Amino acid sequence: MNNKGLIVIVSGPSASGKGTVVSRALEKADDARVDVQLSISMTTRGIGKNEVDGETYYYVSKEDFERNIADNNLVEYNSYAGEYYGTPKDKLEGWLNAGSSVILEIDVNGARQVLEQYPEAVTVYILPPSFQELEYRLRSRGRDSEEKIRYRLAKGRDEIPEAHWYDYILVNEIIEESADDLLCIVKAELNSRKRIEYKIDEVLETYGKDQQND
Ligand code: 5GP
Repeated sequence: MNNKGLIVIVSGPSASGKGTVVSRALEKADDARVDVQLSISMTTRGIGKNEVDGETYYYVSKEDFERNIADNNLVEYNSYAGEYYGTPKDKLEGWLNAGSSVILEIDVNGARQVLEQYPEAVTVYILPPSFQELEYRLRSRGRDSEEKIRYRLAKGRDEIPEAHWYDYILVNEIIEESADDLLCIVKAELNSRKRIEYKIDEVLETYGKDQQND
């Protein structure tokens, strides 16, 4: 292990509030002294209200997406509700090497693909308090047709059992609390023995050396 950043995978059913939790955590990261970045995914789905190209996603055509697959520009990708979603490779490695941690907001399938390449990644699953709340949130964001809402709920029912293999589970009732908890997880993981053990030798090497006075 070295002082590379940490990959933090955040998954959860559509409308579980994971996007809001993640953006609130990013706003609070400086105050919490956590160096963390957000990986912006690429998608072929249409842009929703309150979404911004280059901030929520990079919105691209199917042809562009398939070119990125062919050029090996994606760490992982998946199709969901007939649309592609994927994680661009370029920025991820740069941030990790610079020591920043990176949050990947991706589905369980993408999480599996990332874990194969980065087994040390930490996984966090965001659970909604109930399906009633999930349906309410899906309807109030007014983005999907009735058919897509039904699809997303059924997909959530199929996907939630996958939370069993995640490292952490956050039940998202209060955004502020979930955001704080997410930052706590990142902080604790950065200080876990397996990640920071290299420091022991670094400190031991300073034994007996002359004291530096400035
Ligand atoms: P939504 O359309 O609600 O924004 O996202 C639909 C699903 O795609 C969510 O489960 C979301 O986590 C997932 N997703 C978003 N970006 C990516 C990505 O880059 N890769 C993968 N595998 N899934 C993603």
